[in-house]
Amino acid sequence: MKEHPPFGTAPIRCGRTRCSWRGYETDLKKVPGTIGGLRCTRNACPTCGCDSYSFMTAGEIKARERKQRAQAHKES
Ligand SMILES: [Zn+2]
Repeated sequence: MKEHPPFGTAPIRCGRTRCSWRGYETDLKKVPGTIGGLRCTRNACPTCGCDSYSFMTAGEIKARERKQRAQAHKES
């Protein structure tokens, strides 16, 4: 079994391949839902509402950091 990083510390990507949202578990939108008839709160993508997500791979994180650095460079 793969170990999960502590909640909210690892960057995640939306489970929908066409959605470009990236963020952290703490950035997910809380939406009311039901599981097996029980009311609960689900964490969903703030952009498309998809409630599945995956942790970004090391390569994806590197690419994201590169992009953010390039962006910060442009703005300063
Ligand atoms: Zn999404």
